[in-house]
Amino acid sequence: MRSLESEQFHARSLVYHALAEALSEPVAELHPLLLEATTKGAQTLGSPACRKAALSLATLPAPTAAELRQRYIRVTRNSARRPLALYGSLHREGRLMGQSAAAAEDRYRALGIVPDNGELPDHASVELAFMGHLAAAQASAYIAIDSLLVSRLGVEEHTFLREHPGVWLPDVGRELAAADDPFYAVVGVLLSEFLTEKLGSAWYRQARRAGFPVLQETDVCNLCGICIGACLPGALRMVESDTETALSLDISRCVGCNRCVRICPQRVLKQLETDVLDAQHETNGASRIRILRRSPRAQCPICGRPTVSEAELEAVFATLQPDPMLKRQMSLCVECKSLWNSL
Ligand code: SF4
Ligand code: SF4
Repeated sequence: MRSLESEQFHARSLVYHALAEALSEPVAELHPLLLEATTKGAQTLGSPACRKAALSLATLPAPTAAELRQRYIRVTRNSARRPLALYGSLHREGRLMGQSAAAAEDRYRALGIVPDNGELPDHASVELAFMGHLAAAQASAYIAIDSLLVSRLGVEEHTFLREHPGVWLPDVGRELAAADDPFYAVVGVLLSEFLTEKLGSAWYRQARRAGFPVLQETDVCNLCGICIGACLPGALRMVESDTETALSLDISRCVGCNRCVRICPQRVLKQLETDVLDAQHETNGASRIRILRRSPRAQCPICGRPTVSEAELEAVFATLQPDPMLKRQMSLCVECKSLWNSL
């Protein structure tokens, strides 16, 4: 008898494989395949996305193979909008066989897998089939009581999801959901919502283990960026728009190493307790990006262009003698500063 854990791996694998089939040239049994996978996903994983899809599929008549083929061509190639980009690098980089295709292929090769359905390595069906393969391999490793392999494959599955299908396929799902076809609309909603659910649970498990950093006194952070340099997994980033600068944290990348907390010269970062994380998860759902600090950008007093953040500028002013001329000079943008220096 299979345990609950191996049943869950198996159910996840079924859903990924059914989605992979739905996004390639359709097979006649697609409707029953999706219905079986989503029913299993709803029962075993408690997945709301699967429950919703199973209910919708149960009320839809199963299309014949010829109908499915016609409808697949219409929603993917001949839609009133632009054709659906079913290749990761086309969707993300605007060209076929770009960097994301090569990166996906490297991941398959690292596990000794050669996709054989005649598609490019970053086709939606290939990436989803790989996810299904990883989940099925975890079920087998679990039954063989190989916990090391289960955890290695689990990390591989979450990493691949985060770097490949999780980046672009939820968007494809939303586009498909808006297509004028009731069957493929169900596929689109399932694709987008199931991947988002999985992304949410992946970062949540990761963050719960790690205990990611939060800012204690937001205003004291001067956006110096020293913590970003210390963050080896690249979880911390400075995001700049025309009007503001923000320090953001991608919780799914944070490994809880504490380096940022130890290096912050203002001592304003601390490691978050897991009960606070649980409360935040309730509120924020699958969102994995946290803005730790934001500050408006100052304007150059000569040309009006945005310069550094007000937080940085205030920190510099605090260390200067109260000299209005010096302050004005510090507030200039790079171009006006070099003009000023050349006078
Ligand atoms: S948290 Fe600390 S190190 Fe990071 S930007 Fe703010 S002040 Fe600098
Ligand atoms: S705890 Fe480590 S991984 Fe997480 S944000 Fe800080 S430096 Fe980056």
